[in-house]
Amino acid sequence: MSVWAVLAAAGSGDRLGAERPKAFVRLGDRPLLGESLERLDASEWVDAIVVAAPPGWEEPTILLAEELGCSKVSACVAGGATRGESVRLALAEVPDDAAVVLVHDAARPLLDDAVVERVVTALNEGWDGAVPVLPVADTIKRLDGDRVVETLDRDELRAVQTPQAFVADVLRRALLSGSEPLTSWTDCSAAVEASGGRVTGVPGDPRLLKITEAADLERVAAML
Ligand code: C5P
Repeated sequence: MSVWAVLAAAGSGDRLGAERPKAFVRLGDRPLLGESLERLDASEWVDAIVVAAPPGWEEPTILLAEELGCSKVSACVAGGATRGESVRLALAEVPDDAAVVLVHDAARPLLDDAVVERVVTALNEGWDGAVPVLPVADTIKRLDGDRVVETLDRDELRAVQTPQAFVADVLRRALLSGSEPLTSWTDCSAAVEASGGRVTGVPGDPRLLKITEAADLERVAAML
C-alpha cells in the first residue's frame, strides 16, 4: 500500500505579520516548513511527498528538502489561491496507483508519527478518510451578527487537526470533480464528506498546534 503525503505550505501567513510566507518564517534554527517536512520524510508510513510551496518559493523549498536530506520529496508545485486549490494542484502530482493520500498543513510543525499511524491505519477498517480530533474545552455558540442564537452541545463537538488520511481515489473524486468551490472548505475532510465519503475521527495530539500568529511561533518553539 503506497502512502503519498501532500504538504500544504503555500499560505501567505498574513496574520503572522512577517515579510515572507508563513512556511519560511523561522522556527528554531530553520524555516517552519522544515519541521513537518523532515518528520514526514522520516515517517515509516510515508512513501513519497509532494509539497505545495508558496508561489515563487519552489526553488527554496527544493533546496531546503535537499539540505535536510529529505529523499522522499517527489515533486514541488506552486500552491494556489486557497488551501483547497493548493492541495488539488499537489494531488495532480500523485500517481494513479497511490493507495492513500495523507494531507498535512506545514502550519502544524510538531507532527508525531503516532498520529500518522492512527489516521493511516484507520483506513484499514473501511473508512474513506480519518482525521485527528481533540475534545473542545470551551463552550461553543453560534452567532448571527453579535446575537447569540444557539449553544451547541459540546459533547458532540471536536476540534480537527491534520494530518488527514484518505483513500486516494476518494480524495481525488472529492477535490477534482466536486461541485462546491474549493474555497469553501477549510480542510480536505469537508470535501470528502460533501461527496458522500465516510470519515472517522481518531485521537489527535495537543502538541499539533497550528501556527497562526507570532505568539504561536514562540509557544511551539518552546516545545521543540
Ligand atoms: O491559512 P491557514 O493557516 O489556515 O492555512 C492552513 C495550511 O494551508 C497552511 O499550512 C498553509 O500553508 C496552507 N495553505 C496553502 N495554500 C493556500 C492557503 C493555505 O497551502 N492558498
